[in-house]
Amino acid sequence: METPPGKEGLTILRRLLAYSEKVFQLSKTVIAGVVDRRPQPRIPTAIIVKSVAVLFWARMGSLNALEQTAHSGFFQSWLGQSVCSADSIGRVHALMDAEGLRRGIHYIYDRLKRNKALPDNRGMAIAALDGHESHASYLRHCPGCLERTIHTGKTERTQFYHRQVTLMLLPGARPGCKPIRLLLDHEPQRPGEDEVATALRLLERVIGSYPRAFDLVLADALYSTAPFFNFLLAHGKHALVVLKDERRHLYQDAAGLFACVPSQEGTFRC
Ligand SMILES: [Zn+2]
Repeated sequence: METPPGKEGLTILRRLLAYSEKVFQLSKTVIAGVVDRRPQPRIPTAIIVKSVAVLFWARMGSLNALEQTAHSGFFQSWLGQSVCSADSIGRVHALMDAEGLRRGIHYIYDRLKRNKALPDNRGMAIAALDGHESHASYLRHCPGCLERTIHTGKTERTQFYHRQVTLMLLPGARPGCKPIRLLLDHEPQRPGEDEVATALRLLERVIGSYPRAFDLVLADALYSTAPFFNFLLAHGKHALVVLKDERRHLYQDAAGLFACVPSQEGTFRC
């Protein structure tokens, strides 16, 4: 478990919050747009979202670590009150509406675009698709859990886990700055579904909300399937996917094109 931020960490955190409020109006636009399904909330949703934003930014590692810093002066000034219990934060997050969060991310994207902070990467707007596992447990599970059998010695146990596909924007760097990595959206993988099907559902939604945010999608070898390429072609996007030996159809198609299309000279940086 990571420890709460020290004095230097708090200074950086305060600067980060001040910057986010100034450039993105974090509280007024991004956080205020997030709601949850409690009929008569006693704790405003914004308090919960603001607490957890700090949990991630300070890399505290767990809700219990956050709870240990609940009464600090930092939270009194950022929230106007103490942090709620770990239980309340978990419960409210389970009822939170993802649409409000997505609108918040879209607002941040729009601001970054307007501020010219998302330049093309080597002449193209690039996004990367990837599958991530967020957590796994033998004991706790929910209706959205995926299941797998783990063999340890002679015993077999059912493990529950969550996996999601994320789409991250990979713009180029502005002079003198590190490039921004912006997570546009993610989609949970459903029981009985493969990762490509999850990714297509994600892309359908993201291309609808961000039609011109990227021209090229990067993905690993798992995605070298016909449905994936056909989907991107139909939406006017390019794909860059690792091809492995067992999937040779695309190789053969490409090799057929090499024979009748003259090659063009190019230069590449290594
Ligand atoms: Zn679950």
